[in-house]
Amino acid sequence: MERFVDLHVHTSCSDGVFPPEEVVRMAVEAGLEVIAITDHDTVDGVKRALDEGNKVGIEVIPGVELSTRVGPSDIHILGYYVEVDAPPFKELMEKLREERFKRAKKIVEKLNMLGVGLSFETVLEVAGEATIGRPHIADALVREAWVESYDEAFRKYIGYDGPAYLPKYEMSPEEGIKVIKQAGGIPVFGHPGTARRDELIPGMVRAGLMGLEAFHPLHPPEACRYYKDLAKKYGLIYTGGSDFHGSDRRMAPLGSQRVPYEIFLDLESTYRRTKKGG
Ligand SMILES: [Zn+2]
Ligand SMILES: [Zn+2]
Repeated sequence: MERFVDLHVHTSCSDGVFPPEEVVRMAVEAGLEVIAITDHDTVDGVKRALDEGNKVGIEVIPGVELSTRVGPSDIHILGYYVEVDAPPFKELMEKLREERFKRAKKIVEKLNMLGVGLSFETVLEVAGEATIGRPHIADALVREAWVESYDEAFRKYIGYDGPAYLPKYEMSPEEGIKVIKQAGGIPVFGHPGTARRDELIPGMVRAGLMGLEAFHPLHPPEACRYYKDLAKKYGLIYTGGSDFHGSDRRMAPLGSQRVPYEIFLDLESTYRRTKKGG
C-alpha cells in the first residue's frame, strides 16, 4: 500500500481555518502518515499539534513558513524540525508578532484618516488567535460593511497599490535560512515556482538552504519535475505538501499533493545527519 505525507499545512494560528488539534485529526482521517505544521511566521500551533499527534497516533513535524523578501518577490522559507524554544528563534517569533500588531494598527489608523471608521477591536476579534494580517483587516472591513467584499477591501484600500497599504517587516531569505538553522531546523525554499527567482537559489544554498519544495498545488507537473531535478543538481532534498489552509480562498485539500512517504524519510534522515553533525 502506498503511504502519503503532507509537509505544508497551516492552522488557525496563522491564516488557516482549523485549529491545530482539528487539522491533526483531519490528517488521520485523510489517511496521512505524517504532517508538518508550517504556519506563517509563528510556531504557536506546533506544541498543540504535537500533543494531538501523540494522542491520535500520527507523526507531526514541528515547522514554520517564514516570509522573506527580495525586491518585489515574496520568498517563503519553510523550516522543518525547528526547536521552537531556541533563543534566537523565539526572539524572532516575538519580534514578528509585535511588528504585525503595530502594522495592523497603523493600517487601521490610515483607514480612519481616509474616512473609513473601522475599529481596531473588530480586527482583533476577526483575527482571534491567528497571526494578525491584512486578510483580517479585509474581513473586518466586510463585517463593518465598509466594503462589500474581501477583494474590494484589497482593491480599494489595503492592496499593494492601495492608499492604506503599509509594507511589513521582512527579512532576507538568507536571514530566514540562518535563523532556521540556528534553531536546528532544515530550511527549504517553499513553492519556488510562484516566486520565479531561481537565480537566487545558488546564494540561498551558500547561506545554508537544504531543500526545495517540489510538490505544491501552484506547481504544474512540469514545475514539480523541474524542481526535483534542480534539487538533485544542487545536492538538496525536495519536499512537498498541499499548503492546506481550509478556507474558500485557498482550496487545496489536506493531503491533496499525494507526497510519497519516502520524501519524509529523506527529510528525516537529513535532519538526523545535521543533528549528529552538531
Ligand atoms: Zn507560502
Ligand atoms: Zn504556506
